[in-house]
Amino acid sequence: MAFDIDMIKKVYSQMAERVDAAREVVGKPLTLSEKILYNHLWDGKATKAFTRGKDYVDFAPDRIACQDATAQMALLQFMQAGKDKVAVPTTVHCDHLIQAKEGAATDLKHANDVSSEVFNFLESVSNKYGIGFWKPGAGIIHQVVLENYAFPGGMMIGTDSHTVNAGGLGMVAIGVGGADAVDVMAGMAWELKFPKLIGVKLTGELSGWTAPKDVILKVAEILTVKGGTGAIVEYFGPGATAMSCTGKGTICNMGAEIGATTSTFGYDESMERYLRATDREDVADAANKVKEYLTADAEVYANPEQYFDQVIEINLSELNPLLNGPFTPDLSTSVGNDMTEKAKANDWPIQVEWGLIGSCTNSSYEDLSRASSIAQQALDKGLKMKAELGINPGSEKVRYTADRDGILGIFEKLDAKIFTNACGPCIGQWARYSDPKNAPKNSIVHSFNRNFAKRADGNPNTHAFVASPELTAAIAIAGRLDFNPMTDKLINEDGQEVMFDEPRGWELPPKGFEVKDNGYLAPVEDGSGVEVVVSPTSERLQLLTPFEPIGNEIKGAKLLIKAFGKCTTDHISMAGPWLRFRGHLDNISNNCLIGAVNAFGKKTNFVKNQLTGEFAGVPDTARAYKAAGIKSVVVGDHNYGEGSSREHAAMEPRHLGVAAVIVKSFARIHETNLKKQGMLGLTFANENDYDLIQEDDTFNFVDIASFSPDKQLTLEVVHADGSKDTIMLNHTYNQAQIDWYNEGSALNLIKKQNA
Ligand code: SF4
Repeated sequence: MAFDIDMIKKVYSQMAERVDAAREVVGKPLTLSEKILYNHLWDGKATKAFTRGKDYVDFAPDRIACQDATAQMALLQFMQAGKDKVAVPTTVHCDHLIQAKEGAATDLKHANDVSSEVFNFLESVSNKYGIGFWKPGAGIIHQVVLENYAFPGGMMIGTDSHTVNAGGLGMVAIGVGGADAVDVMAGMAWELKFPKLIGVKLTGELSGWTAPKDVILKVAEILTVKGGTGAIVEYFGPGATAMSCTGKGTICNMGAEIGATTSTFGYDESMERYLRATDREDVADAANKVKEYLTADAEVYANPEQYFDQVIEINLSELNPLLNGPFTPDLSTSVGNDMTEKAKANDWPIQVEWGLIGSCTNSSYEDLSRASSIAQQALDKGLKMKAELGINPGSEKVRYTADRDGILGIFEKLDAKIFTNACGPCIGQWARYSDPKNAPKNSIVHSFNRNFAKRADGNPNTHAFVASPELTAAIAIAGRLDFNPMTDKLINEDGQEVMFDEPRGWELPPKGFEVKDNGYLAPVEDGSGVEVVVSPTSERLQLLTPFEPIGNEIKGAKLLIKAFGKCTTDHISMAGPWLRFRGHLDNISNNCLIGAVNAFGKKTNFVKNQLTGEFAGVPDTARAYKAAGIKSVVVGDHNYGEGSSREHAAMEPRHLGVAAVIVKSFARIHETNLKKQGMLGLTFANENDYDLIQEDDTFNFVDIASFSPDKQLTLEVVHADGSKDTIMLNHTYNQAQIDWYNEGSALNLIKKQNA
C-alpha cells in the first residue's frame, strides 16, 4: 500500500459539511489554510471560530512521517504506549544516516555497515506496528512523501522541520517533535496554536534562468528567518498556478527557513498532473470532485488584505535569479555584479569549489533535467568544470528515471559524483575533509535549504550559498560566485568565448516515471509475532524503561544548575556528534545541559556537587544525586527551552533524576514536553525570586501532595546557612496533565488506559 485512498476519500467526504460549518462560525469566506485546519478538528465540526495566533486547538492529522534520526526515540516511546498498531498511517524513512563520500554504491554499503543496527531496529519496529518502511537509499523523506503520500487538502505531521515540503501538493504539513508524533501514533489529538496567515500573491511568470527556488529566496529576503513564525504562508495568483507541483514543493520546503508553521498552495492542474504521473489517478479523481474545497473561496484571493494577516506580492516576471548566503538563508544577492561587489566588501571567497544539487528541496525530475541542460551545454561548448559537482537525487524513482533518460549520464560526463538518494551533504553527512575544523576558507553553492556554518561539511570556514539547481550547475562550471549566466561569457578549451543558453527541462518525465525497486517495505498485516531486537550492549539504541512517578513528596531536592541567560534545547541537548545517540537515552543524557551557562561562575558544564563540595559536569553531578536517591532541580531564565521541539531536552533531565524545572518563563513546546515526561515545569510567580536561588540550595515542595489546576505551588528554599525563603510557583497543568505527572508520564497513562 503506497497510499491510503480510503483515508483520503474519508477526508474529502467530510469536507463540505465541515468547511461550510466553519465558514458559518467564522462568518466570512475562508482561505485554503483555514479550510484544511477546520476540516481536521479533533472534535469534528467547528462550533466556534478560533483566534489566529492565540487559541490552542486539537487537530487530527491524516498521516505521520519520520526520518531515521528522529524516528528512533519516537518509536522507542511509542513502544511504551501499549498499542498493537499506529493509529494513523505512518512511514519511516532512512535518509539522514548516510554519508556522502565516494558515490552512491560505496556510500550506501558503508552506511548499511555502520548503522545496520539502527536500520534493523527501525525496520522491525515498523513491521511490528504497521508502519511503512523506506529502506536506506530509497530517498529523502520529503521527496518520497510528495511522490507517494501527500494529497491536496490533507494534514500531516512529521518529525522533521522540512515536512512542510508537502505543501507543494496542497497539504498543511508541519514539522513536530517526536513526542507529538507519538501522541498521534497512539491515537491522541495533536495540539497547535491556530496559526496566523500570510498570503503571497504571485503575479507574472517565471522564465529563463528564474526558478521556483528564487521565489522562496525572495520571500526569505522579505520576511527574514523569523518573519513566518507562527504563520501558514499561502501562495496564490497566476504565477502560482503556472508553476510545477515540485516547484511548489521547493517553495514550501524553504518555508522552514523563514520560521513558518507551514506553507501551502491551492489545488490546480499542476498538482493533478503530478498525481497522475506518480500513479495516483484515484487521488486526482477524488480531488477533482471536491476542487472548490481545495483552494480558498474566490473572494479571498480577490481581496487578500481582508483575509490574511499579512500580504506580500511578487511579480515573477521581474524576479532575478538569487544567491542567498553565506551562513543564513535570508541574505540574498542577485547574480552577477551585485555579488561581485558584495563578495569583495565582505571578503567572501569568489572562487567556488563545489556545486551541490539535490536535497529534499530541489531534487525533482524537473530540477535535475533543468540543471542537466546546463551541464550538457558545458559538454557541447567545450567547457571544463572549474568546481566539483555533486548530485543527490531525491528518491530512487527520480534517480532511476533520470538515469534511464540520460540525465545522470550528462552529469557523470562532467565527473560529477552521484551520491546516494539521501540527505548527505545537506545535514553534514559529507566526508569532504579529514579535519573539517581546520579546513580552509572556501565558497560552495548548493540547491539545499540551510546554509548555517558547518551545516554541509563541518568546516566553519565554508561559505555556502543557496541557489536554484540550474544556477548551481552554471556557477559550478564557471567556478565563480559572481558569474552571471545571463550576461557573462566563458572561455572554452579552444580559447573561444561561449555563453550558456537558458536552461530547459521537463516538468515531468516525457516517458513517465519508472523504478525497479523503490525501496519500500510494507508492514505485515499482523505484527504481533515480530520481534524487535535491541542489544543490551548497544551504544546507539536502548529500550526505554517507563519513568517512575516523581510522587507527592519532594523534600531535600538539590539544585543541579541555575542556568543563566539563554538556554535553548540545543543548550539542554546538543546536536552535532550527539546525533548518533538519539536512540540511547542513557548515552545521550551525557550531553544533558552541558551547553547551559551556570549562573554561579558563568561556565558551562561546571556545577557544584553539594554532596562532595566538588565541581563537575552537569550529567555527572545529576547522576551522583540520583545514585544517592536525591532528586534535583534545574532553575532557568526567560524562554527556557526555546528552539526545536526535541523531546530529548525533557527526557534527559527526567532520566537523570531532575524532578522540577523552575524558570522565569518557558518556550511552550518544551514546557509541554516536560509535562509529557511526568516532570514539574514551573515558573516563578515573582520572577525576581530567581535571584534568591543560591548555589548550595535545597528545595522542599511543601504542597505538591495537593497539586491541582489553577493552584500555585509553594516552594521552601533552604540555603546553606540554614536560612529559608518561601516562594510561590505558577504552573499551567490541567487535570489531564496532572494525571500524566501522577502516572510518571503521558505514555504511562496511555498504556494504563489501554490495559
Ligand atoms: Fe533535512 Fe536536508 Fe534531509 Fe531535507 S535533505 S530532510 S533538509 S537533512
